[in-house]
Amino acid sequence: MPVIAGVSFLNYKERDLRELSDYLREGVVKGLKLYPGYEPFYPYDSRCRVLYELAVEYDVPVMIHTGDTYSSKAKGRYAHPLAVDDVAVDFPDLKLVICHVGNPWVRDCMEVVYRNKNAHADISGLVLGDFTERFEAFMVEQVREMVLYAGDPNYLLYGTDWPICRMRTYLKFVRSLGLSEEHYEKIMWKNANRLFKLGLAEV
Ligand SMILES: [Zn+2]
Repeated sequence: MPVIAGVSFLNYKERDLRELSDYLREGVVKGLKLYPGYEPFYPYDSRCRVLYELAVEYDVPVMIHTGDTYSSKAKGRYAHPLAVDDVAVDFPDLKLVICHVGNPWVRDCMEVVYRNKNAHADISGLVLGDFTERFEAFMVEQVREMVLYAGDPNYLLYGTDWPICRMRTYLKFVRSLGLSEEHYEKIMWKNANRLFKLGLAEV
């Protein structure tokens, strides 16, 4: 099963990079994830360059945690989605995913995906457990705004963060967006299929 490899910015070693390249070459690892906020660094920190170059070499996306953090020790400013804009501009061949649509900074996220063809966003981790009716309505409005502003959602990816949140509530959430069937299919799997080169039938 293909996986995304989380990389600890503060703790990774030279030999970890070599191990990662092996997994990337074998296709076991389909992408990397970084955790700014949980760790105090900005995604445009020059020390990330080696990871971005690795991802470009193997043509896999780098997923970047943005927005709220599930830890009181995290420092929020590092997790701002606008910080991903620098990376998207400086590495035009790098495929990026802004995780959690930068929630609650969704507007900043929508600008980054709007202006950078290589930037995508996922809707995972917006809630703990189940959406309440009011919170679902609140998030639905924001994701709809994103699609209105940034255009056809070729950049938007489904994701849940299960087991933190429930699958059923998430499927209902996406249905509540009231998308066309075409856009729904893109978000649910076609965009991810293309981006991560999953090789699922019919793109
Ligand atoms: Zn995350």
